[in-house]
Amino acid sequence: MFQNKDVGVWSYRREYENDRAEILEAVDRVFSSGQLILGKSVASFENEFASFHGSRHCVGVDNGTNALMLALRAVGICAGNEVITVANTAAPTAVAINAIGAHPVFVDIAENGSFLIDVSVIEKAITPKTTCIVVVHLYGQAADMRSICEIAQKYGLAVVEDCAQAHGATHHGQMVGTFGDAAAFSFYPTKILGAYGDGGAVITNDDALAQRVRQLRGYGMKDRYFVEDTPGFNCRLDEVQAEILRLKLKKMPDYLSARRAIAARYDEWLADTDIGIPTISPGNEHAYYLYVVRHPERDVILNELEQVGIHLNVSYRWPIHLMSGFAYLGMNVGDLPVTEKSSNEIFSLPMYPSLQIDEQLRVIGELRRITESLRKPVKSKVRVLSL
Ligand SMILES: *Cc1c(COP(=O)(O)O)cnc(C)c1O
Repeated sequence: MFQNKDVGVWSYRREYENDRAEILEAVDRVFSSGQLILGKSVASFENEFASFHGSRHCVGVDNGTNALMLALRAVGICAGNEVITVANTAAPTAVAINAIGAHPVFVDIAENGSFLIDVSVIEKAITPKTTCIVVVHLYGQAADMRSICEIAQKYGLAVVEDCAQAHGATHHGQMVGTFGDAAAFSFYPTKILGAYGDGGAVITNDDALAQRVRQLRGYGMKDRYFVEDTPGFNCRLDEVQAEILRLKLKKMPDYLSARRAIAARYDEWLADTDIGIPTISPGNEHAYYLYVVRHPERDVILNELEQVGIHLNVSYRWPIHLMSGFAYLGMNVGDLPVTEKSSNEIFSLPMYPSLQIDEQLRVIGELRRITESLRKPVKSKVRVLSL
């Protein structure tokens, strides 16, 4: 049971307490308008989210998984195609690829502690069936888009960015989501820009691609009640979520600076401990969806923290290539050593804009106590001998 002083990785209850009046007012505005699905609020949100990125188009959809799925369909990925991505991401990255009959091809992550795709192994994974790279800006930090786009161009591959964890992250001053052919976002409540329910979006600079996503979102209909080309799906975004997202989009600069301030405090307070802190890759401004640290005795630490009311999380404990649902890919333990090692060591510290400094201090204090007790008693033995 969660006690009052307990801390978790996410909490949006506090945010709701602060924003309750304007959220309820937005909900009432939508319910009173008589338009509940794909109306003015979705259209306004689409315009505002596109201009937040300096992107030509945004299509609001029902969740991040379907945003990816529609983006992949719209860039022309078909059944039997191979799509290169990473295995240390949220399962939906691979689920979306699988949903259109394509096969994820997992490559390892870099050894530099960034948790991001190792660009030096991408070319070796390309086969005649490869049509796309799905780049995951994991935890809120951009992958090396210059190298990735160069490889994609050389081999004629599409690039779809999975930005579900990276709203507002930049890479050499450019927003994530604006590098590839299209980008998918999730507005799941825990995400940096979260709805009060499910939501997602695709952004792109390509007019025809945006039109295809729009059509696929609504059954594949171009005009009313007429499915012209490919039958599509129902992936619509609700007006009420769009209106709430509009309110929250205005606060993005505040959300991002709050997350970055929390991360800076963790960086400082953990620097002299055995906990491995996140590495920032060159040119990146991290958005800190998650603050992911590492320690070889992760599970001992999580258990002990649980005893004192600190409930942490592992994103993700099982790399996708080792999930039984993806056994058909024929991958085994040892195939992605850096991914696998990291999945055994990582855990996420509390990270959300309304997290209080005293809560952070408590987490750090407990982490210090536990990791110090885990230190091998080598030093004290030496001291005893030298006395
Ligand atoms: C959350 C997430 C998704 C899926 O988003 P949903 O809105 O839950 O469907 C996809 N990819 C990544 C990396 C995510 O974190």
